[in-house]
Amino acid sequence: MRFPLHITTDMVKWQLKNKLQGRDRYPVVLMLEPLYTCNLACVGCTPERHMGDLKDRLSLQECLQAVDEAGAPVVSICGGEPTIYPELPELVREVIDRKRHIYLCTNGILLERFYQKSTPHKRISINVHLDGLRDTHDFVCARPGVFDKAIEMIKEGKKLGYSVCTNTTVYRETEIREIEEMMQLLTGLGVDGMMISPGYHYEKLAENHFMYRQEIHQKFERVLELSKQYKVSLTPLFLEFAAGKRDYPCTPWGNVTRTPFGWKGPCYLIGDKYFKTWDEFWGGVDWNYWEKREDHRCHNCFMHSGFEASVVRKLPESPKDMLRMAKWMMSA
Ligand code: SF4
Ligand code: SF4
Repeated sequence: MRFPLHITTDMVKWQLKNKLQGRDRYPVVLMLEPLYTCNLACVGCTPERHMGDLKDRLSLQECLQAVDEAGAPVVSICGGEPTIYPELPELVREVIDRKRHIYLCTNGILLERFYQKSTPHKRISINVHLDGLRDTHDFVCARPGVFDKAIEMIKEGKKLGYSVCTNTTVYRETEIREIEEMMQLLTGLGVDGMMISPGYHYEKLAENHFMYRQEIHQKFERVLELSKQYKVSLTPLFLEFAAGKRDYPCTPWGNVTRTPFGWKGPCYLIGDKYFKTWDEFWGGVDWNYWEKREDHRCHNCFMHSGFEASVVRKLPESPKDMLRMAKWMMSA
């Protein structure tokens, strides 16, 4: 199966529960960013995400409150670099106690620390950042040796019995041939899934490594093909969308983001406003506006955080798509 059965059943139960309660909008993933401190300063990362002081991190209590308020069955712990978060082992234990599934998103440099303090659990997936093979990844991370460390930690995680997946951003300069070689390597290491995201152009950046719509379509047409051979953790319907073969409205409320500055609105990518409380956030973002993708910053966006939930939301409108998704879920 593409996703472990317990994640799929938890997702389906959560959707049914919300439908029965008459809620049309509800989060499916909480992006939990407990700190904006990092041991890297990657090329594609916004300074606010890695230059924060450790003392400004969310407390364990604030993190758990966010987990309870969002209610989402999946919690993606990111940042910053979460292995720097001193309370990470307790946070992971508490989130598991709440019967949520965790994706721990990490650059791998300090992952050994986490392995020493934690034990594998079916509700934890280690998600290692890897933007290509050695030269490319070390360039993106602006530090030599990061690729080798990431590979070492992937192997170690698999040896210890963790579910391990990877997260790759495709930039303008990325050769899809290299992504295929990376997929071959990762398949050999036995990774459980590979997430491939388009880095897209949405505002003026000092260095423009991000893609416009047509460039994303071209590269993702090939990623769509590769997903038939490799364990890509993106639905075929989303990949068709990224390849320009179908269209979706956005579902920004599907992946909600809690940061050290507050709840980020409208989405994981755009922080127009940070809200102090969940109620202010949930009631304060104009979801109708953002769903329509009319904002200029949405034009080139094909992020799975905005659109995988749209795939699921629109499924009931097409029995053919439902069948394809069911087949895909069952595939290896
Ligand atoms: S590892 Fe992640 S948080 Fe740290 S600089 Fe790189 S992209 Fe940003
Ligand atoms: S289209 Fe992208 S940038 Fe716009 S609201 Fe959705 S996720 Fe955010």
